[in-house]
Amino acid sequence: MIYLNGQFMPIEEACIPVLDRGFIFGDGVYEVIPAYSRKPFRLPKHLDRLQHSLDGIRLKNPFSNDDWKNLLEQVIARNEGEDQYLYLHITRGVAKRDHAFPANVPPTIFIMSNPLLPPPAALLASGASAITAIDNRWIRCDVKAISLLPNVLLRQMAVDVDAIETILIRDGFLTEGAASNIFVVKDKVLLAPPKSHLMLPGITYDVVLELVAAHQIAHEIREISETEIRTADEILLTSSTKEIMPITCLDGKPVGHGKPGELFTQLHALYQQYKATHMRGHFSDQAGL
Ligand code: PMP
Repeated sequence: MIYLNGQFMPIEEACIPVLDRGFIFGDGVYEVIPAYSRKPFRLPKHLDRLQHSLDGIRLKNPFSNDDWKNLLEQVIARNEGEDQYLYLHITRGVAKRDHAFPANVPPTIFIMSNPLLPPPAALLASGASAITAIDNRWIRCDVKAISLLPNVLLRQMAVDVDAIETILIRDGFLTEGAASNIFVVKDKVLLAPPKSHLMLPGITYDVVLELVAAHQIAHEIREISETEIRTADEILLTSSTKEIMPITCLDGKPVGHGKPGELFTQLHALYQQYKATHMRGHFSDQAGL
């Protein structure tokens, strides 16, 4: 069951007009929110990021945070599975095709839910492969825009060679993955690229940085050069649906010893602990506390 413009319906019955600006221009923003044990994870942070994305495209937020919470809970309740991920999508609505914003047009609001499965244990045990590519996206990557053509093309480059992600490099420095954030470990120090307009401020990225701070794990938030990616002891990938994953092969060469490293193992365990706390109902927006 999905939500579309005020109504709940089976996804097969959901339709939007061809002049929707999401379809015509990719003029909209989205969020992906995991729900564990039917409880949305870090919802206030996702709603803050949604507001940032809406501000970035000058679209008014159609709902208050309480309204969003209510609506998302209704979608969760109408779908099967304890763990789900919610996809929320807002476009600038339906109007005669013209680049300029239409006046007084209601936005299109769509929410769907899918089962949320953790990455397979075998993949966590072996680690995954990634490739690198030049980051050729626009320079507002902090906005979670639905116009994802560069990300689609970049991710497909990985799929074409049986890798799970494309790690992006802009002007010689790491930005993020095509649909994930990327961390590097060197000499037991976790390195994280600083948030900027060149990457999406990941909710999972924040959890990782809160966990390392709370558990006194050495870390630095700073620009990471291409050489540092290529000589890393470990590379970690994060996203709401993949959680934390080890990248053990980059461009066909082993990362460090070619096996998931110590920091991955430690952070993965801490992340699972934090999730469990959330599921028991202790809503904390500060991991590790
Ligand atoms: N960067 C990009 C480009 C993404 O698409 C995603 C996942 N949607 C992320 C980073 C990770 O963000 P989050 O941890 O909030 O899922």
